[in-house]
Amino acid sequence: VVSAALQADLGRLLGADAVRPGDRPEYLRDALTGPDLSPWADAVALPADREEVAAVVAYCCEHTVPLTVRGGGTGLAGGAVPLEGGVVLSMERVRAVRSLHPLQWRVEVEAGLPTAQLQRIARENGLWFPPDPGAAEQSQIGGNIATDAGGPHSFGFGTTGAFVLGLEAVVPPGELVRFGGPVSKNSTGYGMHRLLVGSEGTLAVITSAWLRLLPAPERQLPLAAFFADARSGCEAVDQLIGSGFEPSVIDFFDEPTVTATAAGMPYRLGGEARFMLVLEALGSAEAAEELRAQMADLLTETGAVLVESPTIPSEVAALWRWRDGVSGVVTSLRGGKVSEDVIVPVEHLVDAIEATARIGREHGLEAMSWGHAGNGNLHSTFLVSSPQIPAAEMAIVREATERLLKEVIALGGSISGEHGIGWLKRDLLPLELDPAVLELERGVKRQFDPAGLLNPGKVLPVG
Ligand SMILES: Cc1cc2nc3c(=O)[nH]c(=O)nc-3n(C[C@H](O)[C@H](O)[C@H](O)COP(=O)(O)OP(=O)(O)OC[C@H]3O[C@@H](n4cnc5c(N)ncnc54)[C@H](O)[C@@H]3O)c2cc1C
Repeated sequence: VVSAALQADLGRLLGADAVRPGDRPEYLRDALTGPDLSPWADAVALPADREEVAAVVAYCCEHTVPLTVRGGGTGLAGGAVPLEGGVVLSMERVRAVRSLHPLQWRVEVEAGLPTAQLQRIARENGLWFPPDPGAAEQSQIGGNIATDAGGPHSFGFGTTGAFVLGLEAVVPPGELVRFGGPVSKNSTGYGMHRLLVGSEGTLAVITSAWLRLLPAPERQLPLAAFFADARSGCEAVDQLIGSGFEPSVIDFFDEPTVTATAAGMPYRLGGEARFMLVLEALGSAEAAEELRAQMADLLTETGAVLVESPTIPSEVAALWRWRDGVSGVVTSLRGGKVSEDVIVPVEHLVDAIEATARIGREHGLEAMSWGHAGNGNLHSTFLVSSPQIPAAEMAIVREATERLLKEVIALGGSISGEHGIGWLKRDLLPLELDPAVLELERGVKRQFDPAGLLNPGKVLPVG
């Protein structure tokens, strides 16, 4: 089907005002910068509800048209970028709150609802949705589920998938089905809603989700602790976890990251304060205060050279503002960056931090890392000269990245801890997955999508 005919057909299904030409740049990219994926599409479809989503999927299956489902477009793995033409199905209009049960701590929302909106709705009802990926105003619940997004609170509460009770989705050839439902546990069948978590638009189009919420904590108190080096900082993390403390957040920032962002930090750092941890204690006002004070004592005993415990709201906000700005400040250092989301067993965090620095040095790249220490999840980062990375520089970064991923796997880790595989790492999947597991994954894909129309060229290696 050629573009004009496709747009006309979609117009008949959805109404002409719900169809855009395929060359609209805002529907062709996500937040991955650097490589040019040469994206293209024939048409953009903006369905308004689940029936219209199902109609678009049915049309694509009947006419063998590729379909790339798009959430907020904040993904960092090229997942929402159309590579083989066809339809971009944007979920931005499918965003209703279907039901809210504050007393049962449960909500059903459509997939296109922005993350921050769900967080606000929960708060307004005395509840809390802990998953907190960075671009929450733009990212959508469907995109978070499809990548199993995490964030600082993943340490204490798990990633998005930990909050999914059930899903409604459209599967090829266009059928609207339910996986799980509004129940707090479920042992029926293979638990397939969990399979859709992290499926990156390659198995089904998620239309809505039943999500678990938590009662909002009375108090959330951060703590910043500084150490002389990564080794002593990581030892403190091991000690803290081993001693049975349960902070909700344990993030880290290595020395180059602290140096690069020190100007915006709300603290004056002495010479020894090079490696930073940011933790959070939450609960009742009393419990949060007590936990934070106990953690501060333990961190001091284990070698922290400076511990800051902000209490008044403006001080607390200043610390989180600095934390939210880290990625942007690092990008501005040279114009661009290539950031990973690798994860290792937490006891190997220091090895992965050191490997990032060493590999960067050996390839002549400025390197730094920060991330979710409690999970062993690192944003290992190589600085580059601009968002449009010159080919020669890109080749060096690719080589460095592949070495890093191999070292991470050798440490027992994984090549993606929160952003997903998308296009970016699809050909690197065999580095980590056993051939038999990869074949099972291909089998799952064939079972859901025998014609290979859903988000082609993503997650699984081509060929
Ligand atoms: C500044 C910034 C900070 C970030 N911080 C974090 C972070 O802390 N933690 C983290 O995990 N990620 C983070 N990310 C990455 C990104 O925000 C998450 O991956 C987010 O969950 C993507 O959601 P989205 O709606 O933008 O999805 P998109 O980018 O639109 O899509 C992502 C993938 O999901 C699929 N998809 C989208 N909607 C659906 C649906 N309804 N059904 C089926 N498949 C679907 C797409 O096909 C694609 O493969 C960050 C990104 C930015 C730009």
